[in-house]
Amino acid sequence: MQIVKVLIEYANRTLNRPFSYFYNGKVQIQKGVRVLVNFNHRDIVGYVIDVEKTDKSVSEIEEESGYQLNEIASIVDQTPLLDEELLALLDEVSTYYLAPKISVLQAMLPPSLSPRRSSLKAPKIAYDQFYEILDDNEEGLTAKQIELLRFIKQEGRVLKRDIKSKSVADKLLEAERIKIVKEEKRRLKIPDFEYEEPPTLTDDQNAVIKEFNESSDPVYLLEGVTGSGKTEVYLSLSEQVLKQGKSVLMLVPEISLTPMMVEYFLHRFKDNVAILHSDLTPAEKYDEYRKIAKGECRVVVGVRSAIFAPLKNIGLIILDEEHTESYKQDTLPFYHAREIAIMRGRYNKAKVLLASATPSLESRARGQKGVYHMLYLKKRINNQKLPSTKIVNMLDYNNIDRDSYIFSHALRDAIHQVLARNEQAILLINRRGFSTHVNCRSCGHVFKCPTCGIALTYHKSDNMLKCHHCEYVEPYPEFCPECGGKHLLKTGFGTEKIQEEVERLFPSARTLRLDSDSAKNKSKIPETIEAFRKKEADILIGTQMIAKGHDFPDVTLVGIVLADIGLSMPSFRSNERAFQLITQAIGRSGRKEKPGLAIIQTYMPSHYAITFAARQDYELFYRKEMEMRKLQFYPPYSYLTSVTVRGKNEESVVENTYRIVDYLNDEFLDEAQILGPTTPYIPIDMGFHLRSVLIKYRDPSKAHRILEKMIDIFGGNSQYELFINVDPYNF
Ligand code: ADP
Ligand code: ZN
Repeated sequence: MQIVKVLIEYANRTLNRPFSYFYNGKVQIQKGVRVLVNFNHRDIVGYVIDVEKTDKSVSEIEEESGYQLNEIASIVDQTPLLDEELLALLDEVSTYYLAPKISVLQAMLPPSLSPRRSSLKAPKIAYDQFYEILDDNEEGLTAKQIELLRFIKQEGRVLKRDIKSKSVADKLLEAERIKIVKEEKRRLKIPDFEYEEPPTLTDDQNAVIKEFNESSDPVYLLEGVTGSGKTEVYLSLSEQVLKQGKSVLMLVPEISLTPMMVEYFLHRFKDNVAILHSDLTPAEKYDEYRKIAKGECRVVVGVRSAIFAPLKNIGLIILDEEHTESYKQDTLPFYHAREIAIMRGRYNKAKVLLASATPSLESRARGQKGVYHMLYLKKRINNQKLPSTKIVNMLDYNNIDRDSYIFSHALRDAIHQVLARNEQAILLINRRGFSTHVNCRSCGHVFKCPTCGIALTYHKSDNMLKCHHCEYVEPYPEFCPECGGKHLLKTGFGTEKIQEEVERLFPSARTLRLDSDSAKNKSKIPETIEAFRKKEADILIGTQMIAKGHDFPDVTLVGIVLADIGLSMPSFRSNERAFQLITQAIGRSGRKEKPGLAIIQTYMPSHYAITFAARQDYELFYRKEMEMRKLQFYPPYSYLTSVTVRGKNEESVVENTYRIVDYLNDEFLDEAQILGPTTPYIPIDMGFHLRSVLIKYRDPSKAHRILEKMIDIFGGNSQYELFINVDPYNF
């Protein structure tokens, strides 16, 4: 008889311990397969994480343990979904992140293999379904329904799976405002790329590769200025590793934003490449996943979750733009791809290469201490100069254009010159929408989100007011709801307003806009980027989406319309974020033969995040910011973990959070700073109240012991749920 230990997910309660079942059949059950078990009178899917043979009988075991032992209903998989490495990784990740094992499993597996009863049906090749307008009459619709209706109308047709709010779409279908059109599904298209001969590497690239090869250190941090040819280093190293018969895992922040990286890999390694990203359908993901597991592809290019790809015999793991926050998952199990990369590197004896023009402070500090091996690319390819930069003080009226309070003389002149030379410009404003505030001119009433209490942003394209923190929307009103006044005042600006201003000031210029509104239709992102690359537009306006990794040869001007956005956010990372964003954005300018210019408009012209970014001097910023972190006892000088309590009853949530704070204070004594209970920026999550505690400490192994005990004491309460976030980002 075999005793199997099974992880299951039951209803909403996640159980962090395996349950035992017995099996009397002939098949030798393997670790890592799925089985069907009966739990509380329901058949559910479980994952086998351990198998033992025993000579004892069921009743003997039941007597010893005091539990009733049930038989598994059936075995789902012939071969394990998780190999030995991934099973070991499951333990390591769940231990490090103090996260329920089942939540780690869910992060590891593609959705179609995720532990749910319904997932037993293998994904079928299906149809693409589109929504199209039947009747655009808005009468009797809610604000959310109107928002979606206007969106579908604007776009013409929208892929069903691109729409997050399924229930809103269903209501529109019911009301016969939209219809579904089916088309045979587009399979994951991987174009057949020609093999491209690699260019001759530069001396700097060769030196980096040599140093990498000659060292036996496990983890490297490549600090390479924008346009220094990091991609070619990844490709060369990958080629070496493949020649040694090993495989390569290449992570990128977001594939739709950086289609070039995938193309480079496809050119070089052709059908040896599998692609894993969030826009794949479950069926496509499942296909890619099986292909990797079967060893048919030895290069995986993918986003965060691809770090769990079932790739065998890994020789190299690369994280491009390692500072990017999308590598941190902000839901359970709250993992960071960088830490997982290092765990998998250790297991596979593979090297890990982290790279960025603006490394995260944590990584750079580990480089300083020799935990990571530092590598540098200090010059751009062909010695192309970094763009020259100009900071414009917007507090000084003399600098501001008379026709437009948004543009300085300097930026307006520079755009004129770029247009005259038939080159291209990028304008960055890290805020979407049209106006950031709307208020009544007569009574002063400010339109605010009823849930979050923050000011609503006006969106012109669909004429709606939207909350940028929750999903709240309402149609733009004609009257003030307080006094009935007709004159509503819109102030502040975002991407939509900038686009309108540009079109007013430069009527001949062709513009494109890219932000998460315009990218709601997912295929829009690569389309817009491609159109701009092909010079179908002169000016690209957008949020941080346009600052990342793109290589547009004809862009010679980057204008940062307002650099201060973000600096005032209440987070210890706000300076770092602002510095990274500005540096990355400036780096889009003058990447080929033509010299580049960047203009930074700001009300804080002497803030060090802005001045050092303008100088493109990461090292100076790093030193200054490290001083600040030291003073405030923030990472990399301390470690952070947050504990969030989530429950229906606000009073009980607050009370229990206080109990946790008291417990932590008693346990840590003076060895940690315990901050809280604090009310998160968005205090309510789907009707549940939230309170948080932030713990800042120096000794991670001690903290780990205390937090494990805390989970034992406070974790099993039915009145609230406990979420532990190790190395959190949003504080
Ligand atoms: P980074 O990722 O460091 O910002 P890229 O990898 O995008 O920089 O490289 C910048 C540009 O230089 C790209 O257009 C790339 O094709 C080109 N490039 C890189 N290495 C070489 C080389 N050895 N010879 C010629 N061009 C190169
Ligand atoms: Zn809101």
